[in-house]
Formats: sequence, structure tokens, C-alpha cells
Amino acid sequence: MKKIFATAINCMDGRVQLPVIHWLQKEALVDYVDMITEPGPNKILSENKDRAIIESIKTRVEISTKMRNSKLIAIVGHFDCAGNPTPKDIQLKEIRSAIEIVKDWNFDAKIIGLWVDENFKVSSIK
Ligand SMILES: [Zn+2]
Repeated sequence: MKKIFATAINCMDGRVQLPVIHWLQKEALVDYVDMITEPGPNKILSENKDRAIIESIKTRVEISTKMRNSKLIAIVGHFDCAGNPTPKDIQLKEIRSAIEIVKDWNFDAKIIGLWVDENFKVSSIK
């Protein structure tokens, strides 16, 4: 049977990898998650300034969507982020604007935002 992939643009933080994978498996019913990690990717994407990193993220998303047929891209922020040490409300705004940036890349995939809280519980953000 064909396996279903999703794509996560996640923080590099080792604490948030498994929670994000498990959430996507359970809630989005995917088998595997292609993990694209940077320190505080919500900040990087919402600023949309660092061309080298942005292009690198975009190239990896393209591989995931084209080669693994991922139809879901999750952009993640989390509590106590070393790469993006800003409060939750600001991080949620950054996730929302990151979603708009990634939408403009025009990949054939749904884009969602996820927040990982202090208990490593994942929730989708509106
Ligand atoms: Zn982080």
C-alpha cells in the first residue's frame, strides 16, 4: 500500500520532533513526516529575509511535495524556543504569516500551523 507523507517545517529542537510526528500521524492520518528543521522557522519564514535559508526550506518542501506527494505542510512553533525566544502570541502571529509566505510558493498542499506547548502537547492553530 502506498504510504502517505506530510511535511513539517519544524524547529530543530529535539523535544518537538516526536510530538509533531505523532500528532500528524494521529490527526492527519499520515504514515511518515518529512522533517525540515531550522531554529525558530516561524520567525525565519515570517521575516522572509534570509534568502539562503528560505530557499533551502523551499527546496526541501518541494522534494517532499513532488517526490513524496505530501499534501500537507505543517509550520510549527513551540514553547521555550531557543531559536525564537518570543512569547506565544507573537509566535502564533509569525506562524500565521509564515503560512501566507508558504502559500505563495504554490505547492499543491494544505498548509496548517501547529503549536507545541510547555507539556509538549500539540494543537493546530487557527
Ligand atoms: Zn525552537
